[in-house]
Amino acid sequence: MYSINELALREKRVFIRVDYNVPMKDGIITDDTRIRLSLPTILHALKNKSRIILASHLGRPSGSRKKEFSLEPVAARLAELLDQEIYFFEDCVGMGVQQLIRDMKPGQILMLENLRFYAEEIENTNSFARDLAKLADIYINDAFAVSHRKNASVYALPRLMETKAMGLLMKNEIEKLSKLFKLTHGDKFFAIIGGAKVSDKIGIIRSLLDSVDALFIGGAMAYTFLEAQGHHMGKSLVERDKLDLARDILKGAKARNVEILLPVDHITAPSIDSFETEIHSTDEFPENGIAFDIGPETLQLYQRKMAEAEFVLWNGPMGVFEKEQFATGSFELAKTVSELSAYTVAGGGDSASLMEKAGVAEKFSHISTGGGASLEFLQLKTLLGLEVL
Ligand code: AMP
Repeated sequence: MYSINELALREKRVFIRVDYNVPMKDGIITDDTRIRLSLPTILHALKNKSRIILASHLGRPSGSRKKEFSLEPVAARLAELLDQEIYFFEDCVGMGVQQLIRDMKPGQILMLENLRFYAEEIENTNSFARDLAKLADIYINDAFAVSHRKNASVYALPRLMETKAMGLLMKNEIEKLSKLFKLTHGDKFFAIIGGAKVSDKIGIIRSLLDSVDALFIGGAMAYTFLEAQGHHMGKSLVERDKLDLARDILKGAKARNVEILLPVDHITAPSIDSFETEIHSTDEFPENGIAFDIGPETLQLYQRKMAEAEFVLWNGPMGVFEKEQFATGSFELAKTVSELSAYTVAGGGDSASLMEKAGVAEKFSHISTGGGASLEFLQLKTLLGLEVL
């Protein structure tokens, strides 16, 4: 697999699949991180005098043209960031865009309209991929966060292209995440797994059991594990149909000598919007209680154990961190992890936004830009979009 800096780009038409799926409100971009993260690859292509064609999806327009999903505001923001004119075309395939590209000069940048205005993008249709292939000499995938999806611009298109490579964001993700692949039991590799559902994380937990030394469980999924052990978690979110699965994982961990840490106390409240919080231990959990965060004793226990770590993978919050009354467990543990001298990676789901909110993102060794993609990559050690490169 090549990366963009190994290819001759001069005067070539370089199609870069980026991930500009930025959050927007009333036509205004509320967070331009994804645009900024694409700059190294674009600057490299600019320096090498290529003709740059940028393609992305935005939101879920479900195969039809909807103004609120137009990439035009993204093109405007990119123009500001690069201090350079960005051409925008209101389609991503067809004669019009082909003509425009023919007239482009080296060093110019064109942004195409939302790929998902065509249902064929999600459907991974060959004819749509062929139309995209007509636009370029070289294909670059810099959209790590969608590279687990069998979409035309990620899968069918690169299969049609002879010259293809990963972009610099993609390369960085692969290098940083792959460091965890080589680890085995005894490397002091600890994983923190939280979030809403056990069912979403089964795959990653199972694959981690072969390499981690300890698994710190938090978030709502901890309650399914605790119930599986015979505790009663009141009205907390328990996936009753996953109890056997949780027991299975606990058994698998024991067989491999993987230590499982589960919360010993909890922050509870009558409802998710309530500020009337209480602390309850796992052993004496109230019948009507609902847990929304790990308690102070659990936090201390997790923090103390964490001091031994040499490698940490964080996936998913310890509680409902979006609400300040249930954010302490996640924020404080995040601070502890960020201050370790260990190799620390956060990836999957909401982990990036959690670290931003906790104010510790810069202190992690790597924060992945991909939610589902990073989980799938850590689990399968490859992605569909990489296979075709
Ligand atoms: P995930 O996408 O699976 O990483 O889940 C993240 C979501 O899990 C966040 O939005 C949290 O609010 C939610 N979550 C974490 N802990 C709890 C809990 N104790 N009860 C309900 N939701 C939770």
